[in-house]
Amino acid sequence: MAAKFERIVYVPFDHLNFDRGALKAADPASDLVVLVESKRMTEGRPWHKERLFFLISAARHFAAEAEARGYTVRYLKAATTIHGLTAARKEFGELPIVCAEPSSFRQFAQLKEFGVQFVENDLFLTSRTDFALWAGKQKRFVMENFYRAQRVRLGILVVSGEPVGGRWNYDAENRLPPPKNYVWPPHLEHERDAIDKEVETELGHTATKTWATTRAGALKQLDYFIERHLAEFGPYEDAIAADEWALHHSLLSPYMNVGLLHASEVVDAAVAAFARGGYPIESVEAFVRQIIGWREYINGMYWFLGEEYRELNGLAANRELLPLFNDSSKTKMECVRSVVADVEKRAWVHHIPRLMVLSNLALITGTNPQQFLDWMREQFIDASEWVMVPNVIGMAVHADGGKLMTKPYAAGGAYLNRMTQSCKGCFYDPKKRVGEDACPFTTLYWDFLDRHAETFSKNHRMSQQVFGLKRLTDLPELRMRAKQVLKGLDEATI
Ligand SMILES: Cc1cc2nc3c(=O)[nH]c(=O)nc-3n(C[C@H](O)[C@H](O)[C@H](O)COP(=O)(O)OP(=O)(O)OC[C@H]3O[C@@H](n4cnc5c(N)ncnc54)[C@H](O)[C@@H]3O)c2cc1C
Ligand code: SF4
Repeated sequence: MAAKFERIVYVPFDHLNFDRGALKAADPASDLVVLVESKRMTEGRPWHKERLFFLISAARHFAAEAEARGYTVRYLKAATTIHGLTAARKEFGELPIVCAEPSSFRQFAQLKEFGVQFVENDLFLTSRTDFALWAGKQKRFVMENFYRAQRVRLGILVVSGEPVGGRWNYDAENRLPPPKNYVWPPHLEHERDAIDKEVETELGHTATKTWATTRAGALKQLDYFIERHLAEFGPYEDAIAADEWALHHSLLSPYMNVGLLHASEVVDAAVAAFARGGYPIESVEAFVRQIIGWREYINGMYWFLGEEYRELNGLAANRELLPLFNDSSKTKMECVRSVVADVEKRAWVHHIPRLMVLSNLALITGTNPQQFLDWMREQFIDASEWVMVPNVIGMAVHADGGKLMTKPYAAGGAYLNRMTQSCKGCFYDPKKRVGEDACPFTTLYWDFLDRHAETFSKNHRMSQQVFGLKRLTDLPELRMRAKQVLKGLDEATI
């Protein structure tokens, strides 16, 4: 075919946005739009099928929408992205290829080597350069400081440089345990169309109705969150309920991460709701902080910390991934069983099960950080390198020696008992640290402190917890029990 185009605009599966990235300045008359469904992406790892369904169906819907907008589109299936782009050039001539800056070091290097030209990735609110300017001036990378600067820079919930409501942060009000006899709003369901069904058939997977695969569906989810959940978002955000898997969380991360929604429109919707009235500042501030604070900070830190950060293993944790992560029936620990079962079902659990249950278990069992990271990358609907790497290596398993968080997030059964409703129905007793029915979290929490006592005693935020070890009268029995528990977890008998 004669080359009537001047450029190829390459749209990765996480840049599905017409107003941002490379499509922002594209022209249907002179730009060919290319998406590549690579075998490496779909078959390279044991991906969760719900995740593959979401990513592939969203990309195919986007390609159809691009055609409806007058673009010539090639949605190519190829062994790798580079094979796909090569095929497009073969068909249309040696055109320059343009793409927004990719979202991982690996893809950045591959595309750069192939000669792809990058435009700035404006799918975030903070450019990589601006974040590096902030980070370069910090002694410690404290998220709260970044967040306050973001509030002022972006003019969100501030008046004359001061926080609306008088405080920057309402976290203290937002740590309630799960409520009893509470009526949760029903879940929004997303109906499946012909494209969804085609992907389901190809994958041999019947998808849940949890995840939208179009921008219209993503906008519906945003509206539903604002209407039915935002006002109550704050108080229970740190809890895990037995009767409700999403609580008041927004379920918006997959859409922001693939570009179907932009962070600015999500934040604007929350701030507009607050301005209308009826939305407590405790909830609105907490939600806004997740997006302009945490999400931007994590992306900024991914690029700032560099490619090697992914491989850190500061606590020399080398246990193989526990069998229970890949099969919820392989454990009697009710909190872990129910969280892994939820991941199996819909490739998502909210922040606290990710942190307090899954990551906490990986941390205190000394599971290899890279194996745990790979598992999380494969299983979660919203996983991408930029977001998983700092969250897992830094926040979750402290493999970076404290670059991101000043202390490891380790918790025993008592805290889990307060923040979940799992312990009542569990074989184990959260109060016990030794004995056959001792809660593995409680035993391993102390054993973890004991194993790393020397390292942690130098950390002033941990010294009190390490000091607590000295008061344990049953440390020898605890050490023995911990060995049994670790063996039992390896053998899937715990
Ligand atoms: C070990 C671990 C792994 C995680 N992996 C991912 C991941 O792969 N992808 C992902 O998007 N989030 C990840 N998170 C952050 C967070 O758990 C999810 O963003 C959140 O659970 C998504 O559900 P939601 O949209 O209902 O969030 P809400 O609770 O409604 O929060 C609103 C938004 O805030 C943002 N957000 C909040 N915390 C974070 C954070 N720590 N990092 C980045 N964004 C944040 C998300 O965009 C989220 O949609 C991880 C957290 C932990 C502890
Ligand atoms: S007793 Fe321990 S293992 Fe069982 S649900 Fe509670 S915290 Fe989890």
